[in-house]
Amino acid sequence: MKTMIRKSWAEPYKIKMVELLTMISHTQRNKAIHEAGYNTFLLRSENVYIDLLTDSGTSAMSDRQWAGMMMGDEAYAGSRNFYHLEEVVREIYGYKYLVPTHQGRGAENILSKILIKKGDIIPGNMYFTTTRLHQELAGGKFEDVIIAEAHDPENEFPFKGNIDMDKLERCIKKYSAKRIPYVSMATSVNMAGGQPISVANLKELRALTKKHGILVIHDMTRVAENAHFIQQRERGYANKSIKAIVKEICSYTDGATMSAKKDALVNIGGFLAINDRDIFEEARNMVVIYEGLHTYGGLAGRDMEAMAIGIRESVNDNHMHARVGQVVYLGEKMMSYGVPIVRPIGGHGIFVDAKRFLPHIPQHQFPAQTLAAEIFLDSGVRTMERGVVSAGRKANGENYYPKLELVRFTIPRRVYTQAHMDVIAESTARVFERREFINGLKMVYEPKYLRFFQARFAPL
Ligand SMILES: *Cc1c(COP(=O)(O)O)cnc(C)c1O
Repeated sequence: MKTMIRKSWAEPYKIKMVELLTMISHTQRNKAIHEAGYNTFLLRSENVYIDLLTDSGTSAMSDRQWAGMMMGDEAYAGSRNFYHLEEVVREIYGYKYLVPTHQGRGAENILSKILIKKGDIIPGNMYFTTTRLHQELAGGKFEDVIIAEAHDPENEFPFKGNIDMDKLERCIKKYSAKRIPYVSMATSVNMAGGQPISVANLKELRALTKKHGILVIHDMTRVAENAHFIQQRERGYANKSIKAIVKEICSYTDGATMSAKKDALVNIGGFLAINDRDIFEEARNMVVIYEGLHTYGGLAGRDMEAMAIGIRESVNDNHMHARVGQVVYLGEKMMSYGVPIVRPIGGHGIFVDAKRFLPHIPQHQFPAQTLAAEIFLDSGVRTMERGVVSAGRKANGENYYPKLELVRFTIPRRVYTQAHMDVIAESTARVFERREFINGLKMVYEPKYLRFFQARFAPL
């Protein structure tokens, strides 16, 4: 009888330098989480063993990127690294004009201020915290037009990032195209669990928005991860490269905001990219107020060089295969222990369903916040809440109560090993075993903006 031999993938790199980790005791962790107000954002990172707070700015750069850092041209104006970055953005993404910013939200601020008037509506495939806040601060209102499947953590639909075209059409009818400056379309929808949008859906979106003269602005923070899922799941794309798919995705849109701290493998950086000359001129003017001159936008020359190199590495098929492969490995391990997670497994992390994990804790007692604190207590693994705390309050002061109440285990790129993934899954399984004994939290301090970053809690 022939045995089935598993065909494993491995990381397409080897390790040249290591960063030592610290492990503190359970007693010390108890003290640390108490002092942090049960908010993992307020922990000191030296008390964390494995840090899955975010995949933002936490990637390991390659030897080539580090070499690029040494090639920084720190001229105030006209840095060589800016022109390299511009060339890479044009070649890989296809957008015509580039305005660098210190990170994604810098681009969101400028774009929202240029395109949104008071009373405007911005439809999008699920909100993102900073994106929506900048839309609101500019006088607009976000309208969720993602498909219903995205709000159901157990639904296996392969493209849960898709836009519901009927919803969008109704939205355009209701408010008229004049009040909709653009559709805010994200690839690899973060708040839905890193779920992709399909090319078929993007084509429909392009056709509908073209008919009404509405722009499509692309939150391209994780476009390469989205392209990987298109390659794996969408008919006709199995033999296309990630690079080709990324370019095709961008071609259905008019511009983009980018947090290069994710896909693009750098620790800091972002940009606004746009095809329209007039919008570009305005953005290039505005960046001087908020970020810096238009050829550095709040970045050092070396940061732009590392970004240019990182963008090329991010669209490499082997890189993306290993990147998402590691996330899937962790997700499958968690499922084997019975831990409820969002399905299908997304691109940048595992999203544990706190509603099913802790069904006895009502949403106003912050089940996901509670679970993140418990996992830190168990093993020093730091995760974060993506539920009622992250959702914040409406303009009228009421809480948003999102359907999804999740704990995000975000995997930094090229940083941890498969053995780390085992430790994470085992710790989560241990907390799952004692779930009935876990109580919720109450909020004792709430900041006005993006409260999840700085809110404090106490055990009930
Ligand atoms: C991180 C992120 C942003 C904001 O980018 P920053 O670089 O953190 O300012 C915007 N959109 C999405 C989807 C993100 O994940």
